[in-house]
Amino acid sequence: PLPVVAVVGRPNVGKSTLVNRFIGRRAAVVQDIPGVTRDRISYEALWNGKSFTVMDTGGWEPKASGMAASIARQAEFAMRTADVIVLVVDAQVGVTDTDLAAAKVLRRSKTPVILVANKVDDERGEAGAAELWSLGLGEPFPVSALHGRSAGDLLDLVLDSM
Ligand code: GDP
Ligand code: MG
Repeated sequence: PLPVVAVVGRPNVGKSTLVNRFIGRRAAVVQDIPGVTRDRISYEALWNGKSFTVMDTGGWEPKASGMAASIARQAEFAMRTADVIVLVVDAQVGVTDTDLAAAKVLRRSKTPVILVANKVDDERGEAGAAELWSLGLGEPFPVSALHGRSAGDLLDLVLDSM
């Protein structure tokens, strides 16, 4: 089986946009409405001659159990099944309670976790990324999934972490 990269994070941070970057095509559904990714969907990707599986997550049921519980479940699932976990946070919005809930789970992960500061579309956005140090998951990696900024460097890091 191929190594699995799980992309987790609260709705609307740009997980599916990043997954599309990783797989090099627009297969994952991107939408402004939170919760559009129905469940966990996996895609095959190839980078630097190495094949791997990228798992997009979503499927939130805010009414059933609350967003924090929902994201904690996704993070737990990722820790059981993935070889690398990418936690995506919206650097334009900053840290939310839901991001904190995900980070709390992932801080005890034995699987490597890469903290991605997404929506850093230009140099001015770098300051927002620095705030994510407070999640206690090490250095935030600033990218723009939408424009592709630093996406290749992130993929290099993901593969190095597998
Ligand atoms: P998901 O719910 O986490 O899967 O988020 P999506 O990938 O569906 O993206 C949610 C919204 O954020 C969409 O409108 C995207 O176009 C937008 N978005 C994603 N990545 C970026 C980015 O790097 N910069 C900006 N400015 N917007 C982004
Ligand atoms: Mg999505």
